[in-house]
Amino acid sequence: MVADPSTAVVLPDPVPVVDLDGRVFTPCTPEKARQNVEQGLAVLEGGVLRLRYRPLAYRRAVRRVLRRDGYRCAWCGGFGSTVDHVIPVCWGGRTVPDNLVVACRACNHSRHNALPSVFLGWTGMRPTHPVILRVLRDEARLVQEALAALDRRPVESCLSKEEAQVWAARHSGTDAALRLEPPGTSATKVRTTRTTVAYIP
Ligand SMILES: [Zn+2]
Repeated sequence: MVADPSTAVVLPDPVPVVDLDGRVFTPCTPEKARQNVEQGLAVLEGGVLRLRYRPLAYRRAVRRVLRRDGYRCAWCGGFGSTVDHVIPVCWGGRTVPDNLVVACRACNHSRHNALPSVFLGWTGMRPTHPVILRVLRDEARLVQEALAALDRRPVESCLSKEEAQVWAARHSGTDAALRLEPPGTSATKVRTTRTTVAYIP
């Protein structure tokens, strides 16, 4: 047991971890537990770290999308075993089937946080997946709506840790890397490289 000077709470080492539904996860160090609490991603209750996001629901969503798309990369058509957010998580994209497609590791990795139109501009790919086509039809508006919704919704709506971290950064207003402006706004300057994209106000 170690005393936590920041909260005067005595934390076990390691700290037990559960999710919102009480499911048990791998325990973490007191330092990690404190970080999670500081970021708003979890609360400490009686020496137990309770995550405020939903990792099991995330895994269920991934399995559902892999089955729906038959392990075929929605970008290049090759074999895919990862799931890709069409509107990226850092732009407010949610982990729901309407925003997910299967991707191969190469497409997922090289796209990184690029919006679909930007990625297709680099690669010249012509995907036919309905989720991608729907986003492409109205990408700027959908991104604006996703970011606005992210600012309104509770952290409990996040499934993955990545989503919860983006949520925390937006809500703390301290993360310069997430000062994103949707494409098409007048103050937006676009800088792209082969693997990264940043929209800088
Ligand atoms: Zn691919």
